[in-house]
Amino acid sequence: MHELGITQNIVAIVSEHAQGAKVQRVLLEIGKLSAIMPDAVRFCFDVCSQGTVLAGAKLEIVEIPGLGKCCQCGAEIPLEQPFGRCYCGSTQLDLIAGEELKIKEIEIE
Ligand SMILES: [Zn+2]
Repeated sequence: MHELGITQNIVAIVSEHAQGAKVQRVLLEIGKLSAIMPDAVRFCFDVCSQGTVLAGAKLEIVEIPGLGKCCQCGAEIPLEQPFGRCYCGSTQLDLIAGEELKIKEIEIE
């Protein structure tokens, strides 16, 4: 479960940002193609945040749908997995969304 390491990183970054203040809310963006399970992050967050300024903070996760752009015709195609086929038949797609892991907002008391 690589979510544990990811969540530990998030907690570390947010703690540093908070500079000792208590954190009320954290908003994460997780791409659907990133292979990160939001439920696992939620679970790890409860564990990792204990004893830190993030203890009891509300974790909100926004999932970003996958989106590819065709290298041939430039069409944008929604993706459920990190590969796909354009309507024009090309399988050369640039991933333009869906792989992100971002701390979008931090709310501090
Ligand atoms: Zn195309």
